[in-house]
Amino acid sequence: MAAPSSTATNGSGNDSSIDITAQCLCKKHSFTATVPLASLPLKATACHCDSCRYNTGALYSADAGWPGDPAAVRESGLSVYYFSDNINVLFCGRCGSTMFFEEKEHGKVETSYAVFTGALPNVELPGGGPLVAIEHHMFLDDTRDGGASPWLRNTDYDVKNGCYKAARRWHGRRFKSDEILEGDDWPSLKDLSVMTDGAAAQTHASDSQELSDITIPVKCRCGGVHVELLASVARKEFSRMQRDQLPRFVDPDNNKSLASFDVCDSCRTVSGLDIFHWTFFWLKHIRFPQNAASSSGPEFPVSTAALKKAVLQDKEARDPRLGALEMYESSPDVQRYFCGGCSAVVFYAVDDLANQVDVALGLLRAPPVGKNTSDGSDVHGGARAEHLLSWKFGGTMAWQQDVQGGWRDGLVKIVTDDVTAWRDKRGLAKNWRVRNDEKAAVEGAKSG
Ligand SMILES: [Zn+2]
Ligand SMILES: [Zn+2]
Ligand SMILES: [Zn+2]
Repeated sequence: MAAPSSTATNGSGNDSSIDITAQCLCKKHSFTATVPLASLPLKATACHCDSCRYNTGALYSADAGWPGDPAAVRESGLSVYYFSDNINVLFCGRCGSTMFFEEKEHGKVETSYAVFTGALPNVELPGGGPLVAIEHHMFLDDTRDGGASPWLRNTDYDVKNGCYKAARRWHGRRFKSDEILEGDDWPSLKDLSVMTDGAAAQTHASDSQELSDITIPVKCRCGGVHVELLASVARKEFSRMQRDQLPRFVDPDNNKSLASFDVCDSCRTVSGLDIFHWTFFWLKHIRFPQNAASSSGPEFPVSTAALKKAVLQDKEARDPRLGALEMYESSPDVQRYFCGGCSAVVFYAVDDLANQVDVALGLLRAPPVGKNTSDGSDVHGGARAEHLLSWKFGGTMAWQQDVQGGWRDGLVKIVTDDVTAWRDKRGLAKNWRVRNDEKAAVEGAKSG
């Protein structure tokens, strides 16, 4: 029999269920479900396919069956993006928060709803343990480099022993494709090092003519947002600057932009994913695509104030190349840009940093190692674009204080341990941000 599904208490007087609320960033949309504690954690599946990455701006999607009333979701007025024949993505049209997959199974009349795990609260469960356990990771092949999967290997949960355990990984759809053996790295470290060697060669060629041509398309799933990052132009400019004059996001060792792990509550809520990844660019190193249809007109706005103004323009006056780019101010000095067509997170901007934006890493379609300019096809050189960015593998995650006191604290700990172990197994050097964290920890220990 099913466990009691109300908030009634059991014989010993303890609550036997919990209310969980999924809410968008602007709080316009809020859904509450009462869930028996015995049924937790919610079972989730993560998808690493290109479509999910481009639809969210995160490196993957993760969703769990929504235990609440389906009618409340159906009648909520959430915006709808037609994802595939039988799947819609539901998101808040005002703030862009990605909230539900709506699925109509073939041959069935009823629709079912799966909630994006990032929309769920960071509650602390009475018995400990996570609110969500990711049991499966699927469509790893799409990432080419593994994407976020190397550090999301132990996201399932062993309730009996109270610890995280290995999730199952699949090349394609779960149960319908080959499974990756639990102990195996995918891709193999050897295959990954081929990519790294290619990257090393590019680093040495930093002044060559070739490198000056590398641009990275940034494009959402629906195509409503499409810009390009002038990766090599930026790197060349940074390489000529005094080290102490570099922007904080530039790696002084190689002049690449930081690729970060971010667990801030707002980034989680707006993307729908528990761990988000950003990279960072000066606005002057972002341009509209240079094809015939879009190469006329002014440059991409070079300040956050100009970008905000451009996006808020009346329809008639607005630059059509901005496409479906929309903006939500999550606080008076913060602008969060998203695609109004498919809900993908695009940029984060803050008034204090007038010339730069955070760029949603999941939207990058970096050309493969050895290729200079993307030909506009969907072929990319790895979801992480590791050859073009400086990844912070290890140390602390941005806004880690936000997860404290809730179930995500455990998730962040296990992911940090796993990414650190994987970095060391690959023999990768710690990037400057990781070294700074370690220095700060040593100094903190001394002064404490
Ligand atoms: Zn909202
Ligand atoms: Zn997918
Ligand atoms: Zn879009």
